[in-house]
Amino acid sequence: MPIYPSKEEVLDAVNNMVFDKNMKILSKKLWLTKAHIDNHGKRLYYFLGLLLLDNPVFSFTKIDFGTKYYYDSKHDILGIDENNPSLVSTLHEMCHKLYGHDELTAQSKAVAIFKKVFPEVYDKCHFEGHMLKLNKCSKSPPEQ
Ligand SMILES: [Zn+2]
Repeated sequence: MPIYPSKEEVLDAVNNMVFDKNMKILSKKLWLTKAHIDNHGKRLYYFLGLLLLDNPVFSFTKIDFGTKYYYDSKHDILGIDENNPSLVSTLHEMCHKLYGHDELTAQSKAVAIFKKVFPEVYDKCHFEGHMLKLNKCSKSPPEQ
């Protein structure tokens, strides 16, 4: 099991993030999905399509559309949970390909990219451990 960072560690890294070339390219492609697609699930597939059409840095030997997110660095396989389309999780695994195994690096870069492109969605999210989750609908009854 990898060692996951705390919410505070991720936020600190996000707030001090300097975007490198790869992060700028990922942000630009994510922005294209925002400009053209309004459905969250479809947006993920459009994003993957944009990545695969680009240079080998962002493509994979195989994408495994299954039930979990992972990056298999030995075989260069990206795993996508088809039942739970998530741009942040996909960015996280992409960052493992680009930056290695470190969880704080992968998660803080993924969150920083997402926050830059989707600030209004980021504002409706909270952290559960190191993971960014969308808040429950405000119509649900408040917790006692
Ligand atoms: Zn990870």
